[in-house]
Amino acid sequence: MPTPTDPHSTHPVIEFRDVEKHFGDKTVLKDLNFSVERGERVTLIGPSGSGKTTILRLVMTLEELSAGYIYIDGQPLAYEQRNGKRMPVSSREQKKIRTRIGMVFQQFNLFPNMTVMQNITEAPIHVLGKSKDEATARARELLEQVGVPDKADAHPTQLSGGQQQRVAIARALAMDPEILLLDEVTSALDPEVVGDVLQVLRDVAENTNVTMLIVTHEMSFARDVSHRVMMFDGGKVVESNDPETIFTNPSNERTRQFLSAVL
Ligand code: ADP
Repeated sequence: MPTPTDPHSTHPVIEFRDVEKHFGDKTVLKDLNFSVERGERVTLIGPSGSGKTTILRLVMTLEELSAGYIYIDGQPLAYEQRNGKRMPVSSREQKKIRTRIGMVFQQFNLFPNMTVMQNITEAPIHVLGKSKDEATARARELLEQVGVPDKADAHPTQLSGGQQQRVAIARALAMDPEILLLDEVTSALDPEVVGDVLQVLRDVAENTNVTMLIVTHEMSFARDVSHRVMMFDGGKVVESNDPETIFTNPSNERTRQFLSAVL
């Protein structure tokens, strides 16, 4: 089997196979099958409550997978088939895979008791084993890249929402992730800074080959950065196509209705 970081791997970077997710009696995802190829940027759209955020949280192993399998580069993430049975993947193995996945959240989720620099260098030092000097140098580059080069010593509470989100993007990128998950990253921001934060992400999309799975209500951003858009409804993919087709000529009635409500 190819190694996880093998750029010549023929596996999809993310594969959902027969995935189900229940919260108590409520079925949020059912018979969900899709895959994302290396370097592909895929945006999930659909009505609120259709399960989009749950999908990202499953990839980040922040939610328990009720049934089915998720593979990252062909490696089982949470459960695998062993001797014909569905068995959990060891937590050590899960953690190893998770280091290759970065996530940016709606509410930033920075560590409030740490400086910006500590927020960004914590995982590279303690998880990847980078030296403090190396991690700090990379963090400075990233702070420059996301447009807050002078905030290294600030604490999150001293920053505006837009600045916090820039730091959160830098923190995710500091792990050199193969996969970047963006969960409604501008929904909690003041409208006047949304465009700037999206520009940072447009630059990331343009200048890296990181695979992205994106949940956003910003349709023009989705249209510009995505290779593919998947429309969800009732926990299922009802349409998956290139953004041009989805936004100008959707084939599914639900997609048409959804877009006419949000555009
Ligand atoms: P979307 O991102 O498309 O708005 P979500 O994935 O956030 O949808 O939520 C899908 C459904 O799952 C919603 O009905 C939501 O209320 C429910 N849900 C999400 N997280 C939980 C949870 N921790 N406990 C119970 N229900 C949840």
